[in-house]
Amino acid sequence: MNNESDVIVVGAGHNALSCAAYLAEAGLGVTVLEGRDVIGGNTITEELTLPGWRHDSCSSAHVVIQSNPMISNDELGLKEKYGLRYIVTDPAVVLPIKGDDALIIHPDIDRTAVNFERFSVHDADALREMMREWDAGLKFAHAHFQAGLPLPENEWTTRYNELRARSAWDVVMDTFEHTEIRRAAMWMGFATIQPPERPGTGAIPAAIIAGRLKFGWTTPIGGSGALPDALAAHVRDHGGDVVTSAWVQRFLVDDGRCVGVTTSDGRTFRATKAVITASHIQTLPSSLGAASPTLSDAAAKWRPGLSVFAVHFACSTHVTYRSAQGPITAVAGGLGSPDGLRRQVAAALEGRVDADDPWLLMVDSTAVDPGRAPGAVFKFLTIAPELRDGRSWTEEQTDDYACGLLDFARQYVEGLDDENILAMRPESPTTISAHNLANIGGSCHGGEFLLDDGSVIPGWLDCRTDIEGLYLTGSTSHPGGSVSGRPGRNSARVVMEDLGIDSSTMMSRP
Ligand SMILES: Cc1cc2nc3c(=O)[nH]c(=O)nc-3n(C[C@H](O)[C@H](O)[C@H](O)COP(=O)(O)OP(=O)(O)OC[C@H]3O[C@@H](n4cnc5c(N)ncnc54)[C@H](O)[C@@H]3O)c2cc1C
Repeated sequence: MNNESDVIVVGAGHNALSCAAYLAEAGLGVTVLEGRDVIGGNTITEELTLPGWRHDSCSSAHVVIQSNPMISNDELGLKEKYGLRYIVTDPAVVLPIKGDDALIIHPDIDRTAVNFERFSVHDADALREMMREWDAGLKFAHAHFQAGLPLPENEWTTRYNELRARSAWDVVMDTFEHTEIRRAAMWMGFATIQPPERPGTGAIPAAIIAGRLKFGWTTPIGGSGALPDALAAHVRDHGGDVVTSAWVQRFLVDDGRCVGVTTSDGRTFRATKAVITASHIQTLPSSLGAASPTLSDAAAKWRPGLSVFAVHFACSTHVTYRSAQGPITAVAGGLGSPDGLRRQVAAALEGRVDADDPWLLMVDSTAVDPGRAPGAVFKFLTIAPELRDGRSWTEEQTDDYACGLLDFARQYVEGLDDENILAMRPESPTTISAHNLANIGGSCHGGEFLLDDGSVIPGWLDCRTDIEGLYLTGSTSHPGGSVSGRPGRNSARVVMEDLGIDSSTMMSRP
């Protein structure tokens, strides 16, 4: 293998691979270096419980990335040429209600509004109005924001900035009035795991609801790993290399310019044009062969934010939700009230557990993609504190928390009885961070940055660094975590700009 290329990309999560694929498409020679022996990072599908049962260890929903032109315009041919296939699920999500009822969100505004009307005509109208505003202009401002581009100067940008400055909590409470509708909207508004009462989260409810109403609980056929697989196939097809078991330990800086990297097993890889890294921002300064005041500043401002807790189940048959139309299966279900979430978040931020009425996401990807297992793969996702004072979650604490979630969910869904559960594997913040070193503190969305003015942002805004030729990407870069592909595409655009390559031939704006 030739250890010199135009560009080195560190990490093979979906963001780093997206960046690599655009640069390879632009004709650059690209080498991707992934530390683990598998690609994908948090977009990975593995046998976690029983042989033949393929679980998404981390992400399952690929909804956010559907509005990225990489997917919506198939800019890289991932769908047309490289086998990536998505299912728009219907229902998008089911929110069980005590008794035999459920609020069902469809990938269709009219059908969802009719379901809202059962509870509140006011809230059905409020939903229509929220989506009318989103489609009329807010979504364009949001797309520019996500792309890291200047927002157009118009009234929608003003309106978007006002909305974003608010908290998700205030937006939901001011927009909707019925308990069940508020519960559904708040549940969706927490999808990116950011404290809902924090200013700066105000655009999340509309953005997430719009995604669910258009794309359902978008599920990649074969599992979350289908996305990095398609991206790696693209990179290789364009002459690039994707190397696994290559942990980058040191960035080589020569006369203020990053010229390559060395791996933990002593290999050197040189880049003549650029090095783009998805390695964690907190670990980056210590692995640089030069001082970087901006990166040290960014690392000092970073913190894990809310940590997550997952439970993977292998089940014989699908879990079902009780509804007015009888029992239904669905890819996604949601539990927990706004007040329960508020208490859970406050406790988690103080290092305590409060899971009396937790925010709980339940996912059964086999409901639409049965090829993943001989039965049903089922998952819980919620938040949990990163234990204080450097303590780890013990196995006993992990099992207790998982069993508490199970008891809670059993009140609302059918099929979570002992007979149907063939195997169960809980993952605490401790094991989630061991699984992928990018999940420091068990954070799932790349963590967050506390800025000097007290505001918090989910991703570092500038992908350029003060070391020439070194760029950032991945979930610690703007706009932060989620399967959005945005940090990857954004960095590719900036690198092309600096190399004098016209990105508009392959990227539509924004
Ligand atoms: C349990 C869980 C559930 C989630 N569910 C969802 C969901 O349903 N939908 C959603 O949108 N988001 C979800 N997320 C968040 C989402 O998965 C991540 O934000 C996203 O996948 C991050 O992608 P990335 O490419 O930026 O980074 P990662 O996927 O973290 O990839 C980074 C890669 O870089 C490699 N790497 C890092 N440093 C080095 C180095 N020095 N040398 C070599 N390699 C290196 C790592 O090994 C890793 O493979 C979930 C996350 C978790 C943990």
